Amino acid sequence: MKEYIIEKQTGRAFELKKGESITVIDIEGKQVADFFAVNANNHNEFFSAGVTVDCKESLLITKDDILYTNLYQAMFTITQDDVGVHDMMIPCCRPETYDHFYNNGEGHSNCFDNINQNLQELGVPHFNTLQPMNLFMNTSITSEKTIVIDPPLSKPGDRITLKAEMDAIVCISACSVSEGSCNNWECKPVKVIIEGA
Ligand SMILES: [Zn+2]
Repeated sequence: MKEYIIEKQTGRAFELKKGESITVIDIEGKQVADFFAVNANNHNEFFSAGVTVDCKESLLITKDDILYTNLYQAMFTITQDDVGVHDMMIPCCRPETYDHFYNNGEGHSNCFDNINQNLQELGVPHFNTLQPMNLFMNTSITSEKTIVIDPPLSKPGDRITLKAEMDAIVCISACSVSEGSCNNWECKPVKVIIEGA
């Protein structure tokens, strides 16, 4: 078992063999962690939030659910989920996101760069768009189909565990938004535990 602290507004990539598990812990509570992964043996195959929602026929992805790739292959199974509320709709924050909403994108840390840079260090090509599973992010859809982002429901120490169904390179980014409710107006670290099969 190996433990890692991902400091606030940073990311880290991990190589997982099929059968190994990754646990993401919200140490202080109300902090989103972006989760993205690629097939270690085929970098053109990667996690797809859209395909995962399509296969489940639901936006509610939690314990016993499967995360799928863009090629509709099982990539991870969620084996533990303390919170049960995660976002499958919102793309990675990137400088343009901060420009759009807050006019402060230049030099702002962001999940798009955190994930791309950490994946590139393990030989994965740059992604032009990144649609992660936003762990602990609390989005909901109203009856008028508008989207509401509330502070995460995660309490200190709440965790989610995902078991790899294929060899994968995973990146976790402690989301950098301090300007809104996404992380309850404060960026915080998260912990990652990697365990063998
Ligand atoms: Zn982010």
